Amino acid sequence: MGTTFTIHPLKCGYIVNHEVSSFMYRKNYGGRRIDAPCLAYLLRGGGQDILVDTGPGSKARAPQHYTAAEADIDDLLLAELGSLGVDPEAIRIVVLTHLHNDHVGGARHFPAATFYVQEAELREAAWPVSFQRPIYEVNQRGRRPPWVEILDRMEVLSGDSPILPGLSTVLLPGHTSGSQGVLVDTTAGLYLLPGDLIPLYDNWPVDGSPAVPNGNHTDLYAYDRSLRRLAGFGATVLPSHDPKVLHYPTYPLPKELG
Ligand SMILES: [Zn+2]
Repeated sequence: MGTTFTIHPLKCGYIVNHEVSSFMYRKNYGGRRIDAPCLAYLLRGGGQDILVDTGPGSKARAPQHYTAAEADIDDLLLAELGSLGVDPEAIRIVVLTHLHNDHVGGARHFPAATFYVQEAELREAAWPVSFQRPIYEVNQRGRRPPWVEILDRMEVLSGDSPILPGLSTVLLPGHTSGSQGVLVDTTAGLYLLPGDLIPLYDNWPVDGSPAVPNGNHTDLYAYDRSLRRLAGFGATVLPSHDPKVLHYPTYPLPKELG
């Protein structure tokens, strides 16, 4: 039996008061808004702790991603890791699904980590389409993009890549050109962390109705191919911004819940 991992969702901030339909391409949710959590995932297995994404960062760095409920918390990601007994300086592997600032903003907390990023994503972050400049924090005078701070410790991947036994990345473009998902072996089979390819459970219905792209995307043709590819993995998908993920502290769920 190979290495299996336990998956811990980490609430690192929120996209505050966010219109649900903006996650759902051409779907009307009647203007319904939610505080959508920015989720990172801690994977524990084989004696290692691995992080997938890092959220938007501290309240000082990204105040727009905090709500009044976090009055006493300066950094949600550090608080979440602390409650799990994880020392950020001991994290050696961080996989970034993509380089949007609500996924890479907390990267500075991991001085010993290597950051696994797709080559196509690094290109896009460096030279994004104009509408995406703010979310990569490019051309923002007086601001240094969070992904620039970790350039010297990036492991740049070209397509699907094994990371460890039981852990690999798969290129799933569409939301961005270099978005990748993370395939994780668990005792209940494969899980897939898709990044913003699948922000909500509604984007990936389990009842067989068609998948729905994120309203925030750069290439719908690539998106369509990625969604078909996703279906082929037969994995359990954990979205990147769905409050329902936080109903459980760890995955896989016990069989009676799954
Ligand atoms: Zn994104």
